[in-house]
Amino acid sequence: MRVLVTGGAGFIGSAVIRYLIEHTSDIILNIDKLTYAGNLESLSDIENNTRYSFQQLDICDAETLNKVIMGFKPDIVMHLAAESHVDRSIDGPAAFIQTNIVGTYTLLEVVRQYWLSLQEDTKATFRFHHISTDEVYGDLDGTTDLFTETTAYAPSSPYSASKASSDHLVRAWYRTYGLPILITNCSNNYGPYHFPEKLIPLVILNALEGKTLPVYGNGQQIRDWLYVEDHARALYCVATRGQIGETYNIGGHNEKQNIEVVQTICALLDELKPLPEQKSYSSLIRFVTDRPGHDLRYAIDASKIANELNWTPQETFETGLRKTVEWYLNHLSWCRRVQDGSYQRERLGRQL
Ligand code: NAD
Repeated sequence: MRVLVTGGAGFIGSAVIRYLIEHTSDIILNIDKLTYAGNLESLSDIENNTRYSFQQLDICDAETLNKVIMGFKPDIVMHLAAESHVDRSIDGPAAFIQTNIVGTYTLLEVVRQYWLSLQEDTKATFRFHHISTDEVYGDLDGTTDLFTETTAYAPSSPYSASKASSDHLVRAWYRTYGLPILITNCSNNYGPYHFPEKLIPLVILNALEGKTLPVYGNGQQIRDWLYVEDHARALYCVATRGQIGETYNIGGHNEKQNIEVVQTICALLDELKPLPEQKSYSSLIRFVTDRPGHDLRYAIDASKIANELNWTPQETFETGLRKTVEWYLNHLSWCRRVQDGSYQRERLGRQL
């Protein structure tokens, strides 16, 4: 199959591409604008594979997008390109509206024209898979409920509102135009190649540098964590075997308070990279002013994907977090190049 991945230089997109190269014989085109979050160094292991190619492209650029899609002729589009960091959406929502809403709309329209141009047999098997988040469902504070595929949308941040909006557009393109779509809403991911502004890599790297470990509010916010490689496998399952028009929630059954996550990372580092005099990295933890509108609890009911597509996560939080901490300890040069901006500077240099 020919798979077009948008946002393939990001954290989850790069995991999807590594998965496709390793576990399928598919031909992959990665289109990515390469914002600050896009890092082609996350694909260095597979970049020379003959089944992989890359094109730098903004999904809001309809004309170029049209040429690229008509030229590549995908069987599946997996749409991951997005602005994805909640804190950045609070400081500057415009980019989130542009990429997540206008970009998704632009992509839907270009893909719809491409799909209409296909012969009946390929038209019947084409699939557009929109990758979204559990944050569209809002907050489960004060309940023991789980998010299901029918939970009403109640997004809290500019990020989750823009993703909710894009989900609505994708569903409308199915209902109105019959475009064969699938949507997945996933909980918080963690794992290798995660951009160091996100909680888990930030804590690992700050701890190694002896910096404080900031925890929002009282640290009791609960997230349901999923190892990124389990997510990539779930995405491929849905993209290839999911029922058209359906939504699938994806989660790891790993509800953890943020403070527990930080303390577990400290304990792993205490074991793997001990400090002198039996000091613990946990002495670096500091509680900081909470994020405005911070959701207290997210938790996913992933029984639909388990029952219909036989997907369950392979990693527990304990095994996945250990792998993640070990990965960061072994890839400090990747981290340093992200932190000092050289991954972007060299790219810009090559473009001049
Ligand atoms: P990321 O920020 O790491 O990567 C996003 C990628 O999209 C980057 O490579 C960036 O360069 C690219 N991009 C941004 N704007 C673009 C544009 N206009 N045109 C083309 N490319 C553009 O994000 P991620 O964590 O890999 O998330 C991928 C998707 O999964 C997002 O849609 C996100 O909403 C969703 N998601 C993420 C999580 C999570 O925990 N990270 C959980 C559930 C769902």
